[in-house]
Amino acid sequence: MIEVQENKYGKGVYAVTHISTGTHIAPWCNYVSEEELLSIPKDKRNIDHVTKIASHRYTLKSEKVDDYFNHSCDPNSGLCFDGENVFLVAIRDIVPNEEVVWDYSTTIDKRAIEMFPEWKMVCGCGAANCRKIVDSFDTLPEKVRAQYAKLGILPEFLRDGSIVQ
Ligand SMILES: [Zn+2]
Repeated sequence: MIEVQENKYGKGVYAVTHISTGTHIAPWCNYVSEEELLSIPKDKRNIDHVTKIASHRYTLKSEKVDDYFNHSCDPNSGLCFDGENVFLVAIRDIVPNEEVVWDYSTTIDKRAIEMFPEWKMVCGCGAANCRKIVDSFDTLPEKVRAQYAKLGILPEFLRDGSIVQ
């Protein structure tokens, strides 16, 4: 269904076959507590590959395909959260050779930016609605936040009333 390919950013994940909306694309692996994450020396955390999946839970670099999905401000996939199971799901149909991308801001709250300022990154995804900076979820336009909430691709700590922090 997918494969890792080289691209101008380094590596990315591309569709090999047609992927229909709602398809589970890949699981997120290597769960740790916040305490465990912070106990890893900064230079060994591979923070670019760390995803915040709950208030005090993260996934680390896994050496699996979940390490290679890039960000887009106009994503074709998003993370679904079913208890401890976190997986990437197609939020629209994806055609062969299209890069599979998700919006990193859907897992970043203000506290995460304070803890890991390097997560705030410049974006050159090229989408018409590119925000230029990948920042915390609360900085997204209200319409986009509502759209993501409706798609069911937000972790619990970013749902409903918890948006305003
Ligand atoms: Zn962008």
